[in-house]
Amino acid sequence: MTYLDRAHRVPELDHFPGVDEISRRLDVLTAKHPDLITRRRIGTSRLGDPITMYSIGEGPDQALVYAGVHPNEPIGFWTAIRLVEDLCADPGLRAGCRWNVIGCIDPDGTRLNEGWFDGPFDRVHYAAHFYRPAPAEQVEWSFPFQYKDAYFDQVMPETLALMRVIDDLKPTIAVSLHNTEVGGVYYYVSKKLKGFVDELHAIAASFDLPLDLGEPETPVAKVIGPAVFGMISQQAVYDYAEERGLPTPNESGSSSAAYAERHGTVNLVAELPYWTHSSADDQAETELSYQQVLLDVVDELEGNLQVMDEVFQAARPHLSDDSQLVRGIASFLPHLLRRPGRERARATEIDPGRRATVSEVFGLRDNNRMYRLRYGGMLMRALDGEIARGSAAAALHPLAHRLREIYGEWQQEAASLDQELHAVPIKDLVGVQYAATFALLDAVRREAG
Ligand SMILES: [Zn+2]
Repeated sequence: MTYLDRAHRVPELDHFPGVDEISRRLDVLTAKHPDLITRRRIGTSRLGDPITMYSIGEGPDQALVYAGVHPNEPIGFWTAIRLVEDLCADPGLRAGCRWNVIGCIDPDGTRLNEGWFDGPFDRVHYAAHFYRPAPAEQVEWSFPFQYKDAYFDQVMPETLALMRVIDDLKPTIAVSLHNTEVGGVYYYVSKKLKGFVDELHAIAASFDLPLDLGEPETPVAKVIGPAVFGMISQQAVYDYAEERGLPTPNESGSSSAAYAERHGTVNLVAELPYWTHSSADDQAETELSYQQVLLDVVDELEGNLQVMDEVFQAARPHLSDDSQLVRGIASFLPHLLRRPGRERARATEIDPGRRATVSEVFGLRDNNRMYRLRYGGMLMRALDGEIARGSAAAALHPLAHRLREIYGEWQQEAASLDQELHAVPIKDLVGVQYAATFALLDAVRREAG
């Protein structure tokens, strides 16, 4: 059976597993197969959850697969569980490679997302219960980083756990399990591998999922093939900002892929959307100037961010500083508020006559929608949570009221798009990550000859 056949056998899934369910499922497998699975505690989260790694297979290759590097991206939780299940069931699958699977590297952040894991899977419900950690608290972007004037070494215990594992295993391949929100499928890979781009395309196509051919996540992403990029490096992000006289990143670190590079590890990220939209891979030209759409979107984003910032600044003295939500907002708002300047600088480099494609227009506008839904939602929860504690200053109430009204408008706007969005079955999302993981190992082995 090929990895693609196996990927298509993922059963129907109706929710995403939370921290306790992930541990329970992997522990049950370990209890059933004590001769196959080695269970090892590799760390402890800041709030006290154990972090566990499950290893299965013989080697000599070492594969490292980790979910929850962005705790708002739960597709990988299922992918990790499914991998271990299948590796237990099939000796052929575990031949020649030892698989090391971390079911959830950020339990603290994941618990703050569990409010949406059981559905309903519409964007309004999702965003209202969404939590993304501040960049310095994202496992993926909190590895040590030293470059020109940037210096980051505030490594969290979760990241340190992953660093130790990477150094211990020196993995052949590493798969960091991420996902996006709306659009199509795209990938990041740390090395160009023969035939791999076509394979990655074929995997998405076999699940009838569109590729994301619109806006790349960042202009520094190097294109390897359609919807396949080189890993984003923090150095490139720094240089891009420096060349344009913009503030350079100094509040977060480098990625797990950059860290694993020292061991020759080939890294893959498969980015998958919960929802697709017919515009996501529509390359048809519109009548609109790309530059103009970009500038319009930037103006709108700036307005949205200013409202959030006003509310947050006024509320800040009355909010508990130890909340992950408050730390997230405090970090994201200044970061996002720099985005309009960066995007306006980018707009000056674009030919005003260039027409935007349908996918670019959709991608640019939807990014704004995403930002205000996500961070507006986090701010709303921070205010509501403080009030729910029962000791909120009176000054918080009018601020919560004002934000609720504005956020409600954003939610209504988002809900109006619901009809156009197609929710991808969770099993297909898992299937793509699963297949891409095995395809990577194959491609790396081919390359090694
Ligand atoms: Zn991510």
